[in-house]
Parts: sequence; C-alpha cells; structure tokens
Amino acid sequence: MSGINLVTSALDPAGAIYSEIIAAGDSWIHPINQGQILRIVDLEGNQAVDTLFYNAHDYEDRYDFQNTIRNQGNIYLTTGSRLISSKGNELLTIVADTCGRHDTLGGACATESNQVRYAIEKGHMHACRQSFLAALLSFDGGLAKRDIPNNINFFMNVPVTPEGGLTFADGISEPGKYVEMLANRDVLCLISNCPQLNNPCNAYNPTPVLVLIWDGPNV
Ligand SMILES: [Zn+2]
Repeated sequence: MSGINLVTSALDPAGAIYSEIIAAGDSWIHPINQGQILRIVDLEGNQAVDTLFYNAHDYEDRYDFQNTIRNQGNIYLTTGSRLISSKGNELLTIVADTCGRHDTLGGACATESNQVRYAIEKGHMHACRQSFLAALLSFDGGLAKRDIPNNINFFMNVPVTPEGGLTFADGISEPGKYVEMLANRDVLCLISNCPQLNNPCNAYNPTPVLVLIWDGPNV
C-alpha cells in the first residue's frame, strides 16, 4: 500500500451515538464495540492524538506497532491500515482518512524523554504517558503502567529519510481533518490528546479534538 490514501466518509455527525470533545492535554478512555465506527477530528489542526487500543475481552491482547507495520508493509498509517494486536488479531481498520499520514514509530512523550531531549527543567511538564496512566487508573480494568505499549500518533508527521533517519516534522494535518476506524472486534480505546510544547507535533500549541462514534451497518 502507498503511504497516503485519502478517503472521505459518508457518515453524518448528526447520526453519531456518541460525541465528546477531548480538551488539549486531556485523556479519554472508552469502549468501541465490534461494528462501531470511531472518528477522531483534529478540530484546529496539527494536533497529535496519542492512541492505544486493547482487545476488550483480553487486555493483554493490545495494539502492536510491529505487527501492524509488518502486516501492511508500510510504516505509515492511513486508509486501509489494519491495526493488529500483539496476539495477531485485527482490532480496527482505518476506513476513512482526510489527513493521509499517521505515525506509529515516534512513541508517546514522557517526562523522562522531555528531560533528555529538551532540558532538565522540562521534567515537570505534563506528558502523554502520565495522561495514559491517569486514564487507565481511572478505568476499572486492572490496567496500569506496564500496560502502555508503543502507540499510534494520529495526525503526527514523522517522516523517515532514505538513510533511515527519524524526524519530527511539521504536522500535515489541518483544521477539520479526521481519521475513521471500524472496530473489527470489541475494543477499549485510550487517548492522550498530546500536551507536548517542545516540538512541532502540536505546532507548539496543543488544541482540542472531537471523538464521534456511530453504530455501524452490521450491528
Ligand atoms: Zn505527547
């Protein structure tokens, strides 16, 4: 598959059964049932949305970036990407994408990496791994720090150079761009709407995103 596959959705937001704005820097945890469709909207543009998925019936079976990359033979996520779990199951399939490129190599920001990459005094700054952990602990599922694997960064542009270099570039997303996924099985979705202020992944200005859920045609 190619790196960019722009597809718009026919779904009407008025028909969504769930709609929630995740504030800049906030987290969100929510079940998505098999057959339902999840849309994440980058309301103001250039916002990284750090995301994880778990099999709702087996939390140890969770999103796995290596299986996902190997399965599709491409390092970027876009329409047609199947999000594969650690046990080889298809969790969700990206069915629409108006941004065209999403990262799954860069990982989530952490207070530790902020200190190493930017400055010791950045260590107090709010980071995605804290948001992931706070949401997991607020959810009555027995999930904790060890249950945070490598994630997806929706709307984040991390181009890999021909030499294999990894760069955090300016976002290619714009206000209103969205990505939409069909749940291939019951999953639990965990989002950290990235609070990062030290690199261009949020254009140095974290902003809110919108999540919508529809009951799909097969339900
Ligand atoms: Zn982050």
